[in-house]
Amino acid sequence: MVKKYILSEQDMPRRWYNIMADMPTPMEPPLHPGTGKACGPEDLAPIFPMSLIEQEVSTERWIDIPEEVLEKYTIWRPAPLFRATGLEKALDTPARIYFKNEGVSPAGSHKPNTAIAQAYYNRLAGTKKITTETGAGQWGSALSMCCAFFGIECKVFMVKISYNQKPYRRLMMETWGAKCTASPSTETKAGRSILEQDPESPGSLGMAISEAVEAAVTNPDTKYALGSVLNHVMIHQSIIGLEAQKQMEMAGDYPDIIIGSAGGGSNFAGLAVPFARDKINGREIDIIAAEPASCPTLTRGPFLYDFGDTVQMTPLLPMHTLGHSYVPAPIHAGGLRYHGMAPIVSQLVLDGIVRPEAVKQMETFEAGLTFARSEGFIPAPECNHAVAMAIKEALKAKEEGKEKVILANWSGHGLVDLAAYESYFQGKLSNYELPQKEIDLALKDLDNLPKPRQTNDRTDNQ
Ligand SMILES: *Cc1c(COP(=O)(O)O)cnc(C)c1O
Repeated sequence: MVKKYILSEQDMPRRWYNIMADMPTPMEPPLHPGTGKACGPEDLAPIFPMSLIEQEVSTERWIDIPEEVLEKYTIWRPAPLFRATGLEKALDTPARIYFKNEGVSPAGSHKPNTAIAQAYYNRLAGTKKITTETGAGQWGSALSMCCAFFGIECKVFMVKISYNQKPYRRLMMETWGAKCTASPSTETKAGRSILEQDPESPGSLGMAISEAVEAAVTNPDTKYALGSVLNHVMIHQSIIGLEAQKQMEMAGDYPDIIIGSAGGGSNFAGLAVPFARDKINGREIDIIAAEPASCPTLTRGPFLYDFGDTVQMTPLLPMHTLGHSYVPAPIHAGGLRYHGMAPIVSQLVLDGIVRPEAVKQMETFEAGLTFARSEGFIPAPECNHAVAMAIKEALKAKEEGKEKVILANWSGHGLVDLAAYESYFQGKLSNYELPQKEIDLALKDLDNLPKPRQTNDRTDNQ
């Protein structure tokens, strides 16, 4: 029995796929935070190099991957696809379960797929320094490494609670030469105003984004980079799904079900979009975005225009959101604690191409243990959401006696997150159910913002 499907470097995709060329409904544009009018390239120019802004609004189906980016990708790409035969056996399921392993990158997750591209385009544009935010540290460490590759200074605002609880990712960033500051900090106006209101603030991704954007716009040779949510990030991550398509072909299988964990939406979209194209063209596939029940952006958040950050500096994005002032519960999947969701993923949900599901924290850790004990690899807490969903679907297939083919994205390993596993072993973790009242309260702040053409009312969900 074949276990691993390995592409040669020669067979690695040389173009990214842009699903904006094939969306059933065209995307609504980002809006300027001051005027409420559609953002033009010049509005984004202070924070991103023009080549990335062009990708952000591009409807070209295929975008060439630059040679230098391809060369860096080959440090760990093509990433293996493996058949989880040990897990299948443990579950006694007739389903065939495949995982795309994005945990083999030096930073341990899928995030360098876009960090390399963003560092490369910034180097081309002459950027000297890049600022960014990070939650648990996965994105900050990925960008630090890639800035080192391209000789760019990197400054990371790390959510304070993680900065204090998770020293190892900070040390990875410092090893790769980046400067890391706990956010909210006194280094920016945004940070100082948040600290004035709450000196004990544990920080949030929304706050750290405000600080990083401010640090970029106030310095001419400094740009900002975002690790998820934006269209150009989804484009770069499509390499995951393009490789997986070839590998599924090698395996002689085609997925009935596709699963990814969804925080900002990038690893999920990366795996899903090439298959979503097949679905748009008539193929039957169940494409599931697995999110935390404690931060249920897609399953309980409405589709509205909202800010990407807490201090309302970013453009307004059309997306499912829990409100920019919402501070998610301190679950251990730090990379999934974001109030919004990628506009591309949000639109695919509205169009019925993607189906969101919420997973509870305890179930995700149980799934992580089942996986580690049958397949060896220890998943990141974020990745456990995809693993839990895959297990759920495999058990459903068993109940129905169906030979389903499941393909899930294994977004990263959990070797730097073992403290989260320890908390689980010590019985310190629980499920957080988000009360509707809290969602309603955070969404009040959006009342006076412009509304997208299309909307959904999810307030009566669940
Ligand atoms: C950051 C991260 C996620 C969530 O981010 P997306 O943009 O939704 O992919 C999931 N898994 C891992 C391992 C991560 O580091």
